[in-house]
Amino acid sequence: MTAAGSAATGESVKYDAIIVGAGQAGPPLAGRLTAAGQTVAVIERKLVGGTCVNSGCIPTKTLVASAHTAHTARRGAEYGVSTGAVSVDMAKVKARKDGIVLGDRSGVESWIEGMPGCTLIRGHARFEDPHTIRVGDDLLSADRIFLNVGGRAVAPDLPGLADIDYLTNVGMLELDTVPEHLVIVGGSYIGLEFAQMYRRFGARVTVLERGPRLTPREDEDVSAAIEDILTAEGIDVVTGADGLRFSRRDNSSAGFEVVARDGAQPIAGSHLLVAVGRRPNTDDLDLERAGVEVDARGYIVVDDQLRTTAEHIWAMGDCNGKGAFTHTSYNDFEIVAANLLDDDPRRVSDRVPTYALYIDPPLGRAGLTVAQVRASGRRALVGKRPMTRVGRAVEKGETQGFMQIVVDADTEEILGAAILGVGGDEVIHSILDVMSAKLPYTAISRTMHIHPTVSELVPTMLQEMTPLS
Ligand SMILES: Cc1cc2nc3c(=O)[nH]c(=O)nc-3n(C[C@H](O)[C@H](O)[C@H](O)COP(=O)(O)OP(=O)(O)OC[C@H]3O[C@@H](n4cnc5c(N)ncnc54)[C@H](O)[C@@H]3O)c2cc1C
Repeated sequence: MTAAGSAATGESVKYDAIIVGAGQAGPPLAGRLTAAGQTVAVIERKLVGGTCVNSGCIPTKTLVASAHTAHTARRGAEYGVSTGAVSVDMAKVKARKDGIVLGDRSGVESWIEGMPGCTLIRGHARFEDPHTIRVGDDLLSADRIFLNVGGRAVAPDLPGLADIDYLTNVGMLELDTVPEHLVIVGGSYIGLEFAQMYRRFGARVTVLERGPRLTPREDEDVSAAIEDILTAEGIDVVTGADGLRFSRRDNSSAGFEVVARDGAQPIAGSHLLVAVGRRPNTDDLDLERAGVEVDARGYIVVDDQLRTTAEHIWAMGDCNGKGAFTHTSYNDFEIVAANLLDDDPRRVSDRVPTYALYIDPPLGRAGLTVAQVRASGRRALVGKRPMTRVGRAVEKGETQGFMQIVVDADTEEILGAAILGVGGDEVIHSILDVMSAKLPYTAISRTMHIHPTVSELVPTMLQEMTPLS
């Protein structure tokens, strides 16, 4: 079924449901709706799979794996292994990444195309009226509409930036040579992952962060440990870079100079990555024609079950401002499907916030920071253990970072945790599961864990907690 020719007659092609955006929530929702016998149109203007598959999680974690391999090879002698000189063939690194991305994207495409009753339509969707969507000359209508339009990198208005070439996460993933000097504006999750991987590929790397420390949303000791990990590998970190000014480099056809703040020495770079945040793709949907409201930052306003201000329209994923991760987008799909198809009133407020930062070693996070717990004024217990006192980390020769956990002293529920260390992205899940089940911390501290693992020290850390001052 196609919508071709509908505009000529002025009539729309009718579906039971329209999904705008084939990101992390749209395709699985199409799967559930079509399995329930509904006709569904999925509209995608660019690449099926959206950010995660094409320019986010999957390509970056593929590159992180190549960077980790280069790093480990360089450290071979520490383990008694001779490797000779280590070189990085960036074209091959990129080809490996492209192959994995293509495989993933093709998999999602074939999945959508194989769903009975589902039509994949290529093009930019915008509202014509509350039940009608226009894609080029074609009109489509449906009783229910689901928005999964994601977001894109913010282009900040910084002096001189418009006069020089710069990259976002999308352009960075197309590089097939190692930059001479990569300068990164933004010392948060996306910027730091690129910083470490390109340093390991052989680039000189400088990170410019406006705030007083990297990853300002984390606890101060977490930020400090992250900075230590990066500077130990030779990455230059400039914090308090609050007066950025860019200019083309004199006597050079390529490259630029940046001044971090008034009076600072200019820094010359060959490549510039701007990673200062993301904004939702909601400004080109004509949402006002559908009665769908957005907040001051452009995020679609939704209730706890992801219904927008129009009763028949839902918004899932990065565009609703309730999360900025693949797992939050997928969880949004599960919430919408549960409510509409399973008579199960799942809600966004049921979930425990969780995410990882994929520097090496990674940071796994769940729930509140220690600073947030302190600010809440509640009585709490805190446990902390450096990775130098985790046997498995010592055996692996990866002792950077620490584990930290904070527990409500009255209810005994775990309020938050940060595992910055080898395996931290996996270890955090045993804590997350107990938090989600609302069990007391003793559910972990009394459980026998496997030796030798990083996870075996989580019960010990919980047994050794002290009052939070
Ligand atoms: C560099 C980077 C690394 C990341 N790493 C991680 C990570 O390790 N773990 C993690 O959980 N998250 C990570 N993220 C975040 C993650 O990629 C996003 O949170 C996730 O992809 C959001 O999914 P989504 O379903 O909301 O939207 P998207 O995946 O962005 O999909 C939205 C889709 O809608 C389409 N679209 C938009 N407007 C229209 C329109 N008008 N008409 C038709 N189609 C439209 C877009 O083309 C896109 O394909 C990373 C992001 C970046 C940038």
